[in-house]
Amino acid sequence: MSAVGAEEQGSKGAEEQRSALAAKDEFLTATAKLGVAVTANEPLARHTTFRIGGPADLYAAVNHVGKLAQLAELASVLGIPYTVLGGGSNVLISDAGVRGLVIANQTRDWRLEVGGWRPTASESPISNLQLLVDSGVMLAGLARWAIREGWTGLEWAVSVPGTVGGAVIGNAGAHGGCIADSLACALVTYPGQGRRWLSATELGYSYRNSALRNKPGFSETLSSCPPIVLSAAFNVARGDVAEMTARADGFLAHRRASQPVEPSAGSVFRNPPGDHAGRLIEAVGLKGHRLGGAQISPRHANFIVNTGDARSADVLELIHLAQSRVHEQFGIELALEILLLGDSSS
Ligand SMILES: Cc1cc2nc3c(=O)[nH]c(=O)nc-3n(C[C@H](O)[C@H](O)[C@H](O)COP(=O)(O)OP(=O)(O)OC[C@H]3O[C@@H](n4cnc5c(N)ncnc54)[C@H](O)[C@@H]3O)c2cc1C
Repeated sequence: MSAVGAEEQGSKGAEEQRSALAAKDEFLTATAKLGVAVTANEPLARHTTFRIGGPADLYAAVNHVGKLAQLAELASVLGIPYTVLGGGSNVLISDAGVRGLVIANQTRDWRLEVGGWRPTASESPISNLQLLVDSGVMLAGLARWAIREGWTGLEWAVSVPGTVGGAVIGNAGAHGGCIADSLACALVTYPGQGRRWLSATELGYSYRNSALRNKPGFSETLSSCPPIVLSAAFNVARGDVAEMTARADGFLAHRRASQPVEPSAGSVFRNPPGDHAGRLIEAVGLKGHRLGGAQISPRHANFIVNTGDARSADVLELIHLAQSRVHEQFGIELALEILLLGDSSS
């Protein structure tokens, strides 16, 4: 590059930096008016079940659905990329952290409503009673509450960590149930374009996937203003408390007996059709294999656990090792169930 070209590029870079700083200042002024505290360089390891993840440039926790939407709107207008974090139970965050804003979703209200939103006439009818829930509500806690109060429909969720929003995005499921079967509709905001109630059909559900699920890898470009699930409505009906409690206790006991207790993000890989990722990883001799502070769980080979000081890079290396060994021996591509979030540049 010529000296003139290099100088031009340098001044363009400086100009971009100045405008990013101005946007950040404007954002901080506006969030202060909104009554939302924003911190810089928050370590995200504190906010994930893996206990792994570098810092967020900016971090804000919100406990009100309206503020969640406003914050995302503000960030999108000012060109600040954002990422919503629910329970942080389905993500591996890079050691370099996340650029832009991380919004911790701590919205926690719910109520029972008679009637509620209905899909179009061509879609399946929904029951008259709906549980209308903020997306930051913890799914397992909601399921336990419903059982205690005699509402059936969410028993399968008693052992699933994370928030309703994360579950709606990823079609969480367990013990034969899943979000696609229980959800009536979800309120989604698309910053800059308004909000929409989407039915379960419109959410395009498939195995642990939805039309809304972001599929970023560390090295891919993240959509800088992804849609956000604000609320969800679940169909519920009257059920027998003793029967539901016994079923839920059975699910929890099965979990305790089969899954590791160390920090993890749950199943790392999707099960390939007709098989189990854990079985394949065990068959290639990797069960219990360690790399740095990360280990393929000796209890369940589809879990990678943090034995204390694991880095994101350790987990990624184990992921690649499992994928290549399984591919070599069985010709099967293991696809990730967990999401990779953050900056891959370091
Ligand atoms: C021990 C353990 C066991 C598990 N067992 C199961 C299981 O049985 N079944 C199962 O399905 N999963 C399981 N998981 C994975 C995890 O619990 C689910 O995927 C859960 O639904 C993730 O919710 P979350 O709030 O933690 O999402 P996060 O991990 O916080 O986020 C996941 C993704 O969703 C996005 N997101 C989160 N909230 C919103 C929102 N409101 N709007 C838009 N995007 C959003 C995030 O940006 C991210 O891309 C397990 C995890 C652990 C640690």
